[in-house]
Amino acid sequence: MGHYKHILLAADFTEHGEHVAEKAKALATENQAQLSIVHVVDNLPITDATYGPIIPFDGDLTEQIIEAGKKRLLKMAKALDIAEEKQWLEVGSPKLEIVRVADENDVDLIVVGSHGRHGLALLLGSTANGVLHHAHCDVLAVRLKND
Ligand code: AMP
Repeated sequence: MGHYKHILLAADFTEHGEHVAEKAKALATENQAQLSIVHVVDNLPITDATYGPIIPFDGDLTEQIIEAGKKRLLKMAKALDIAEEKQWLEVGSPKLEIVRVADENDVDLIVVGSHGRHGLALLLGSTANGVLHHAHCDVLAVRLKND
């Protein structure tokens, strides 16, 4: 197997995110590859426990969510020593945006976390599943603990 040259970490900032990030960092070091990071602010309706799905029509709210995403991305990127031009903050469908960033930047390995869902949940698609189906490069699904 050839060496990977450009690895893209898909970061969602969940509690398991650091484990996935550590794997991506270790792989980048082993392969002497460039490491990039992407976070996607999902543009799907936000689900509120009381009011159900609400479309984030409020520009300020959307802006705040994007700003919060940027801050967390910067923090994680700093910890992984990823330069600013290798940090991607996108808005849209996570699986499609992750694949688009990979395609446009000659990424040869995408690293995502996987909850290892089975049956219907798997068919309906987690982000990892969606990335796997749409990607044109290798995808590493890091199994998340407590599944
Ligand atoms: P999920 O299918 O939502 O449980 O997420 C599985 C993995 O997909 C996560 O561990 C991340 O690697 C990636 N992922 C999910 N959501 C996002 C997002 N909004 N931005 C970037 N990566 C994401």
